[in-house]
Amino acid sequence: MTKSLEWKKITEEQRRVISAFHINYPIAVGKLAKSFGIVIKKATLEGNLAGEIKEVAGIVTIRVNNHDVKARQRYTIAHEIAHFLLHRHLLKDGIQDTPLYRSHLSSKIEREADALAADILMPMDIVQSLMTENSKEYKGERLYEVVAENLEVSKIALKIRLGVE
Ligand SMILES: [Zn+2]
Repeated sequence: MTKSLEWKKITEEQRRVISAFHINYPIAVGKLAKSFGIVIKKATLEGNLAGEIKEVAGIVTIRVNNHDVKARQRYTIAHEIAHFLLHRHLLKDGIQDTPLYRSHLSSKIEREADALAADILMPMDIVQSLMTENSKEYKGERLYEVVAENLEVSKIALKIRLGVE
């Protein structure tokens, strides 16, 4: 199975919007957020939060920790987009995610967001073809590093995606 259960919970139209960003890599998560009408701001966040998402007067804003490295910011944006798609009813109170992507919400909700974030940021067909292509030249940890660089994700996120971490 290449997509999460959460992928099936979002609407067909939402799936179509995301899939249109899966033509090229790295996945343009900032533009994807914008196409859902979400505003993205980079900011210094209190308590070393990775990111947060909040809806005020109908406008949904994601704030990303501007001290994080780019790959991490990209993951944060994907995770917050997943909250937007799966947990829209909770956004008025705001969701603040710690560096380990936990919040005041249940770990079930956070796992759902992580699963959909992986589908958004690391589509399995692209991951697999990059792994195959690069395995001709690279082996072991170096292979994961190269593929992670291609996708602009962290090596650890990629390894979790591949179930090897
Ligand atoms: Zn979260």
